[in-house]
Amino acid sequence: MTNRIKKTQVINAKPLVEHKISKEERDQLTETLLTAPATALANGEVVAFPTETVYGLGANINCPEAVDEIFSIKGRPNDNPLIVHVGTKEAIKPLVQSFPEVAEVLVEELMPGPLTLVLPRSDIVPDNVTAGLDTVGIRMPNHPVTRQLLILADVPVAAPSANLSGKPSPTLAEHVVHDLQGKVNFIVDGGPCQVGVESTVLDLSSGPPLILRPGGVTASSILRCLENHHIQFPQRDWQIRLLHSGSGYSVADHEVPKSPGMKYRHYAPDGIVKIIEGNDRSECITNILKFINESNIKDNFYGIFANQEFIDEVKARLPGETNLIQYSYGPVPDIRKATHELFAGLRFLDEHSAKWIFVETFPDQGIGTAYMNRLLKASGDTSNRTE
Ligand code: AMP
Ligand code: MG
Repeated sequence: MTNRIKKTQVINAKPLVEHKISKEERDQLTETLLTAPATALANGEVVAFPTETVYGLGANINCPEAVDEIFSIKGRPNDNPLIVHVGTKEAIKPLVQSFPEVAEVLVEELMPGPLTLVLPRSDIVPDNVTAGLDTVGIRMPNHPVTRQLLILADVPVAAPSANLSGKPSPTLAEHVVHDLQGKVNFIVDGGPCQVGVESTVLDLSSGPPLILRPGGVTASSILRCLENHHIQFPQRDWQIRLLHSGSGYSVADHEVPKSPGMKYRHYAPDGIVKIIEGNDRSECITNILKFINESNIKDNFYGIFANQEFIDEVKARLPGETNLIQYSYGPVPDIRKATHELFAGLRFLDEHSAKWIFVETFPDQGIGTAYMNRLLKASGDTSNRTE
């Protein structure tokens, strides 16, 4: 059943993201564009949709076959839990067994947004959504199209990223079409995702909050929010643990709660990702050239994801080179732009048959923590942070 080829309909919902249209026009367009995919979602079909982080592949949590289909379409291991997406704050409480004050504050301040809260699940959340865990990850996306879609569907929607398992997540509808054409009935196109990496997964199910996966919301903004509301935890140094929990470098292994799924190879293009290392730009470039000269990579296409200034300098030191394929995310170093473009860049370089892909690094702080996490996973490192 799940392997039958489907006639994929791509719905252009980009006009709904534009600010210029009037409320009447928006309401009319919402109904015209989103009624069909919302009804399909509610009735147990799998639908791909945009969010502010990456594109998602959603199913009504009450339709076990649809949830199973997500796993089969993606080739996703069954022990990797799905995040449940809701369109309103009111829809969160029925999904959880308890709703501590810390969750109340974070929902109020940071949702909708790129934040997933892990809480003890209620009986209405099925086993196949949480991979049998007694907790559930919940998120309310901050994207006008998705919120309307979720409100119209009026059901909680389990959704991982809308890519084939292990590959870079999609940040454009074109990426979803590339991976899932013929496998889903609807792909809703809401234009480019603003953030470009997945949500921050924050565990509130036991003890002080800890980041299981760094993402669009930084550790310091979570901490600031808790401090503003005078939220305290009995454990010593809980603030420091929270701040370091997303980076994977500073918290001892035994202190890190398990984040199922992070053990798998993730975000990886076909080409081999090489993290560019060095104390400054010149050293980074020297290291790239050294690698190129010492290995036989010059006989193949190879790629670089970096800022234009950096790429220009590499090219200046490789006169006449034609096998180098470039993806520049912007004119100068800029962590937000690099994060926004990372997955699109890896996909582009794959499509151009780059056998090796050199990628610029950023300091492991702020949004850089999420960027470096994805980069490490893309390079095949599954050791940090989890199992
Ligand atoms: P994705 O693989 O992009 O769908 O992201 C979902 C990730 O969120 C999973 O791989 C888990 O690491 C994490 N996650 C979801 N639900 C839970 C949960 N109940 N407990 C812990 N981590 C979770
Ligand atoms: Mg994913």
